[in-house]
Amino acid sequence: MFEFKPPEAKGAVKILKGGLLIDGNGGKPVKDPVIVLEGRRIKQVGVKGKVKIPAKAEIIDCGTATLMPGLMDVHLHTMMFNCLTFHNYRVAQWEITPELQQMYGLFHAQLCFDMGFTTLRDLGLNSGRGLLTAHLCAIRDSINAGVIEGPRMLIGGFTTITGSHLDLIQPRAAQRYGFQTADGPWELRKLARTNLLAGCDVVKTCATGGGGTDKEEPDIRNMTQEEINAIVDEAHAFHKVAAVHCFTPNGQRMALEAGADTIEHMVFHEEETIDMIAEAGTWMTPTLLHRTDHAIETRKDQGTSQFVLNKMKALQPYCFETFQKMHKAGVNIALGTDMGFDPEMGTNAREMEIYVKLGMTNMDAILTATRNAARAIKMERELGTLEAGKLADIIAVKGDPSKDIRVFQNKKNIQIVMKEGRVYADRRPGHDKNVVSVTPKDWKKIDYL
Ligand SMILES: [Zn+2]
Repeated sequence: MFEFKPPEAKGAVKILKGGLLIDGNGGKPVKDPVIVLEGRRIKQVGVKGKVKIPAKAEIIDCGTATLMPGLMDVHLHTMMFNCLTFHNYRVAQWEITPELQQMYGLFHAQLCFDMGFTTLRDLGLNSGRGLLTAHLCAIRDSINAGVIEGPRMLIGGFTTITGSHLDLIQPRAAQRYGFQTADGPWELRKLARTNLLAGCDVVKTCATGGGGTDKEEPDIRNMTQEEINAIVDEAHAFHKVAAVHCFTPNGQRMALEAGADTIEHMVFHEEETIDMIAEAGTWMTPTLLHRTDHAIETRKDQGTSQFVLNKMKALQPYCFETFQKMHKAGVNIALGTDMGFDPEMGTNAREMEIYVKLGMTNMDAILTATRNAARAIKMERELGTLEAGKLADIIAVKGDPSKDIRVFQNKKNIQIVMKEGRVYADRRPGHDKNVVSVTPKDWKKIDYL
C-alpha cells in the first residue's frame, strides 16, 4: 500500500527510569528499566547499567513505578451522557445542544487520558441534530493540533439502517435530522462516504439490535448481508476499518462474511461462531463494564426506564459466559468498555478487573489494553508495546499491575501519563500536574429542573 508520511523532526532526548517494565509483549516484568526517548519516539529500551545515558538528556525518574505502554479503550462514546451536571439522563442526552455535548466529549476524553488511557476509539454518536461525526472529529483534531491536551482519538461514523438499534436509541417520535440513516447498499455506501468525508477513522455499523432501548430486541437483524457487505467494502476501499455491533450468532456470521475488522459486544454465542471468530482472527471487544450491576445501578439513578434495566440484567449472564468461552477458545480480545456517561469516565481500567475475575491472567488482561488493542485498531506498528521506533505513549504506574490489576483504578497510582514523548500528567512525589483538576464535588447541576 502506498503511504505518505511527512518527515519527522528528531526532537529532544529524554530518559525514563522506573522500577519495573511491562513492555506489552506478555513476558515477565523486567527490573530497573531505562527507556531512551528521542522526540516523540522510543529510541531504546534497556536496563540500568546497560544503557548509555547522553549527558544532556532530561531524566524522568519514576522511582519504583512500573513503566508500560499507555492504555487503550477501543470502544467507548465520549459524547454520550453528562449526567453529573444534569438531573436525569433524558435531559443530559436529548435536551442539550451538540455544541455543549462536544465540550463534554472533550472533557470525558481528558478524564480517561488522566487515568493513563492514551488512545481512545470513540465509536460515534447519533443525536437529535443528526450524526455528530464531525463534532467528534473536531475533538480529535484539536488534540492532534496540540491546542488542547488529550488522548489520541480514533472516531467512528455511524452507518446504519432506518429503525436500527442506534436509530431507536433516539426517541421514536423525534424528528429525524437529515441523512443519519440509510437503506440499501448504495444509500449505505453514500452514508459511509459522508462519514468518511466528515473525517471518521472507523465506519461503525450494527448487524443486530442491542440492549439500550425499550423498543427493539437484541436478536432483531439490523441489515441484510448485501447491506453489511457494502458498508465494510466501502470502509476498506478508503483504507479504513469497519467495526460491527453484533449481539447474536446470526449477526456474527454476517460480520465475518462481510470481512468486519472488529466485532463489538458479542453477548450471545454459539460454539460454532466462537470457533469461526477464533479461526478468522477477527478482533472482538467485550464491553463488560457496561453489563455490571454497578452499571445497572448507575443507569437506574439517572432515570433509565425499568424495562431497559431489566433487559440489561437479563443480558448479563450471557455476556459473561460468552466472554469466558471466547477466551478459552483463543479469540482475539481487545479492551472496550462502551463507556458513555461521566461518573464512570476515567474508570475504564475496571474492565480489566472483570476479565481477570472471569479467568484471564493479569498479564493477558493488560495485553487487551496494550498490544492487542493496538492490533485491533491496526496501529501495532506505532503503539501497543514499548519497543525502539514506536511512539512514546508510556505510563508509569505505582505498584505491579501483573500482580494487582486494580492498581490502575486509583488516580494517585497513575504517576506519569506520556503521549508521544510529552508528559501530560505527573503525580510523582513532589509533582502535581493533572490533565483535569476538577473533581466530582466541583460539578453542579445546570438544568434547574
Ligand atoms: Zn457502543
